[in-house]
Amino acid sequence: MDVLPCGHPAHASRYRGCAHLVAEQPPGHYGRFTGVGFTYDVLCKSCAGQDDPRVTVLCVGCAERVDDQSDMLGWIGQPEVRHHDADPRGTWTTRECAVEPVNERCVAAVPGGWLVLTAAGLVEVGSSRPAVPVPLPVEPPDALPDAPRPALHTSPDGRHAAVVTDFGRHGVVVDLVTGEPVLSLDRGDYRYRHTSFPVAFVGEVLVTATDWNRLDAFDPATGRLLTDRVTAWSGDGPKPDHYLDYFHGALLPSPSGRWLLDDGWEWAPCGVSVVHDVAAWLGGDAHATEHGRTLAVRDAWDLPMAWLDDRTAALQPIGGLDRPAVPGVEVHDVAGGRQVTAFAGPAGRMWGHAGLLYVATAAGLEIWDPAAGARTGVVEGFTPHAHNPRTGRFAELAAGRLRTWTPSP
Ligand SMILES: [Zn+2]
Ligand SMILES: [Zn+2]
Repeated sequence: MDVLPCGHPAHASRYRGCAHLVAEQPPGHYGRFTGVGFTYDVLCKSCAGQDDPRVTVLCVGCAERVDDQSDMLGWIGQPEVRHHDADPRGTWTTRECAVEPVNERCVAAVPGGWLVLTAAGLVEVGSSRPAVPVPLPVEPPDALPDAPRPALHTSPDGRHAAVVTDFGRHGVVVDLVTGEPVLSLDRGDYRYRHTSFPVAFVGEVLVTATDWNRLDAFDPATGRLLTDRVTAWSGDGPKPDHYLDYFHGALLPSPSGRWLLDDGWEWAPCGVSVVHDVAAWLGGDAHATEHGRTLAVRDAWDLPMAWLDDRTAALQPIGGLDRPAVPGVEVHDVAGGRQVTAFAGPAGRMWGHAGLLYVATAAGLEIWDPAAGARTGVVEGFTPHAHNPRTGRFAELAAGRLRTWTPSP
């Protein structure tokens, strides 16, 4: 094995750095973007002030010491944002549609098309059925920046809808065939103002928070609890093994339902993206959701997230707790528990489909290819509110018009 410039006979790391960071206790450092993708050199404060500081390849040990023991002081320059735009290929439909969603989170896919929560209740676009009333408890208003707002979730078979209050406490599950409410949702009275309501249909099973630090699964057809266990702790005596000190947040199941992303937080406060093993949980590992795997720790939460395939999650932005966040996407292998790559650029609500990321911006729907770390097209003037993961179709319901766009395979 060659001796590297840092003086160590070891493998080269992904970093180049200045000589001053080669130390048992390296000083704080800056990351200076190289202009190629999200790669950067690491520099001590003095070298960071120079135009052309000398950098050499660091060995893996030196790089690890910089990552683990040296404070990240900031970024210099900008990462490369790759735009390889071509004309996006897809199919359009447009129709007049007077159905008005309560907000942009109140449109969801059902097998026949789109379900919308309107002021009058749930309406399926194109159906002549009267609106299904939703007995959602009214939440008291408050002064936090994220005001309580209704949100709509649908089961893949279209049988059930969950209407919840994001940044609120309550929700209700409605049987769309009978029009009857079948389950009341309540996540308890502790600090519920800080996250979107934790709820998701995983297949036909409903997963929801029933306390600030507890998820449960229900069969919505019968209301049966599938995850009975003890999680409460009085605070006296030793902490139980399965006690969870974590506030659940927005939930997003992987395409097969094997995994569940959880965009919650914990004290300092900081955002903690966790992945739960749903197969283990529903298969008998009763405390699996008390022992989720942490993917990323940030200074914020309620951030865009998506699945690229059944084991690969995309999280926005890049970094954010030990280093300033950069607009972009981190790609995580949830089964392996490691970050695979990161690329700068995407910022906005996003969906994954067929290995690509679709990001809604004011200008249009951006398409990003994570393998190339590049934007490959923009559907201009189209800002969808919902996506059907089975057909790939996106829907925008605005100005009395329903427009859909389905990417070509
Ligand atoms: Zn230096
Ligand atoms: Zn070294």
